[in-house]
Amino acid sequence: MTQTDAPMPNRPRARSAGLARRIGAALTAVLVTLPLAVPARAAGGVQVVRDAEVETLLRDYATPVLKAAGLKSNRVQIVLVNDQSFNAFVDGQRIFINTGALTAASVPNEIIGVIAHEAGHLAGGHQQRLREQIAAARTLAIVGGLLGAGAIAAGSIAGNSGGAQAGGALITAAPSVAQRSLLSYRRSEEMNADQAAARYLNATGQSIRGMLTTFERFSQSLSLAGVQVDPYQISHPLPRERIALLEELARKSKYFDAQDPKQLVARHNLMRAKIAAYTGGASAVARLFANDRTSLAARYGDAIATDLSGNSTAALQKLDALIREQPNNPYFHEFRGEVLIKLRKSPEAIKAFNQAVKLDRTKSPLIRARLGFALVASGERANMAKAIDELRASLQSEPENYSAYRYLSQAYAQTGDVANAELIMAEGYFRAGNGREAKVFAARALQKLPPGSPGAVRANDILTIGK
Ligand SMILES: [Zn+2]
Repeated sequence: MTQTDAPMPNRPRARSAGLARRIGAALTAVLVTLPLAVPARAAGGVQVVRDAEVETLLRDYATPVLKAAGLKSNRVQIVLVNDQSFNAFVDGQRIFINTGALTAASVPNEIIGVIAHEAGHLAGGHQQRLREQIAAARTLAIVGGLLGAGAIAAGSIAGNSGGAQAGGALITAAPSVAQRSLLSYRRSEEMNADQAAARYLNATGQSIRGMLTTFERFSQSLSLAGVQVDPYQISHPLPRERIALLEELARKSKYFDAQDPKQLVARHNLMRAKIAAYTGGASAVARLFANDRTSLAARYGDAIATDLSGNSTAALQKLDALIREQPNNPYFHEFRGEVLIKLRKSPEAIKAFNQAVKLDRTKSPLIRARLGFALVASGERANMAKAIDELRASLQSEPENYSAYRYLSQAYAQTGDVANAELIMAEGYFRAGNGREAKVFAARALQKLPPGSPGAVRANDILTIGK
């Protein structure tokens, strides 16, 4: 997880409030609030965090399962949500997973089970049908004059903040018939998703145990906690019959005792250590690895927490020790680059990010953007051509990385190319939905760009279609 970069000003739906601020400058290169709500905070939004290491691991968890589900894995996006509660949900072609679910899961199989269940929803087209059902339910309720708890449930499931707000305003109204039919509909969808998940896990030779562990944990916490209902229970209701079904599926599975590959377990622990360090600091890492304080993951978490607590020099020594043990781990080099930037050791930071890019088999645009940033931050004019290449390559695969536009603009400015620096700012604001600023920069760029050049054409486009 890279450092927070100041967001582009005035971009809509972007917030740095709440948890993200509390955990400080730690998490996220890109912090965007999507226009969609989780059940727990139906009227609010979802804070997305980005991290190459976590994203690559989740992708590796998901790919076989999505394939077994008949879904094109490259079309399904996996989104990491900055939230310490246990939750996962789907929206269109996206699977959202909370950071809290990742730290709570002691083995990869638990998360793979969650992904398999969500893939079951996607493959079953539940979400689309759910939306239609909700629309129908809402119409029914309005006709009956009983818009109440049913609408809240509807809004929550759909992740539709408008619906949830409408329900919330009328919370005192009596529950409707529509609500009951909606809930029974959801129950069948959940059991359907469980059965589908079991099929995908069997097809990929993986255990159902993790899924069972996860759901049992919630059924217990529900009966014990009383009022403290976890959001996962709201989005995935868990009647006794559902547990019974899971147990039966588990009994039938010949892979019940299958274990996660050792290498995956090791990466899982590194991921949990990183999230714990970012969200709870050194004490959270120590708690998580209380039984294994000298493990690689515990020391990784400790190195990150040390840096976040302000002691980058000590963090660097700890990271160097880790790199001696695992010289080919791209994320150790990536984090080393971040630490070196803080220590203002530009040439070494560039070297570290270069190494990370070289070792990263996925060629994550996030790491390339950080390499680009390190090159820009060096202030060396000779580094700008490469900075421009890296940032352009990164934006090509991820045009929503707003901070990368700012670095790219700075790179052009440092070469004296003001026209392109302004055009890139226009592009960044345009993508971020800030039409007003986009037009200001596009107009400035247009005055300097050669008429008819591709840049001038783009600036003109932004001026005419900018909102
Ligand atoms: Zn579900």
